[in-house]
Amino acid sequence: MIKLTCASQMKEFSRNERKRDKTVGFVPTMGFLHEGHLSLVKKSLEECDTTVMSIFVNPLQFGPNEDFEKYPRDLERDTALAAQSGVDVLFIPDAKEIYPSSLSVSMTAKQRTDVMCGASRPGHFDGVITVLSILFNLVQADRAYFGQKDAQQVAVVQGLVNSLMFPVEIVPVETVREQDGLAKSSRNVYLSPAERKQAPILYKALKEGEKSLSHLGTQETIKKMRDMINSSADGKIDYIEILKYPDLTPLVLNKGKVIIALAVQFDKARLIDNVIFTMKEE
Ligand code: AMP
Repeated sequence: MIKLTCASQMKEFSRNERKRDKTVGFVPTMGFLHEGHLSLVKKSLEECDTTVMSIFVNPLQFGPNEDFEKYPRDLERDTALAAQSGVDVLFIPDAKEIYPSSLSVSMTAKQRTDVMCGASRPGHFDGVITVLSILFNLVQADRAYFGQKDAQQVAVVQGLVNSLMFPVEIVPVETVREQDGLAKSSRNVYLSPAERKQAPILYKALKEGEKSLSHLGTQETIKKMRDMINSSADGKIDYIEILKYPDLTPLVLNKGKVIIALAVQFDKARLIDNVIFTMKEE
């Protein structure tokens, strides 16, 4: 595995791969790797000649009161895991490589951001599309792999790529879960032992919501899920939303692709999860 820290070297590497007619797969991450990240790598290895993973905790996508400083980091372990999983190039820039001077433009994600995490974390997706635009330009990948756990991110990034015509295909990858259903997340390490026991209720509630939606309707389904979570977890529900996917607009008819998504704030970890499914007209 090659390790790169300079933006210019990353660009040079990809330019050479393209000259050699190699397809490049890209897995952007913030590190503290787990099997969710590694499933993206696996998919890229299957579909592309060369797999590039980036690890960059992007300051721009964290709000002033969020966990940027406390975001878990372990580069040594990440490097070993990336190498074991078959990553060809690990790109670990520091902030000065990505943002060498103050940006002379600003990017705003205008669609699919007024709901879910976009509503709770103002500016978050602006930071995400900014860093991804920079990384897409450096890595020049044919395909970029994103987890459906962050389904709104997938929808927003697809919007970015469509609008600015980035020559990269966005590939969504299914959420990897613990045996008890909890979605794997770097932030799970910040759950207390008691919270860790409670956390699987999030996915249970989502699955219950999926089962109930066609007969209960949106509001009653959300209420049922709220009751389930409130009666078994100490975390505070930030949102539970049921929307069309990937538009993230209100569900008008009970048909088509639907997302039920939630965010729950535990003491030191904010967890998000979702289910996406297709409803057929009854
Ligand atoms: P992060 O490091 O949390 O920014 O995540 C980097 C990428 O890994 C994003 O595309 C995430 O959606 C994806 N990812 C995170 N957790 C999971 C998971 N449990 N299953 C699949 N993909 C995931």
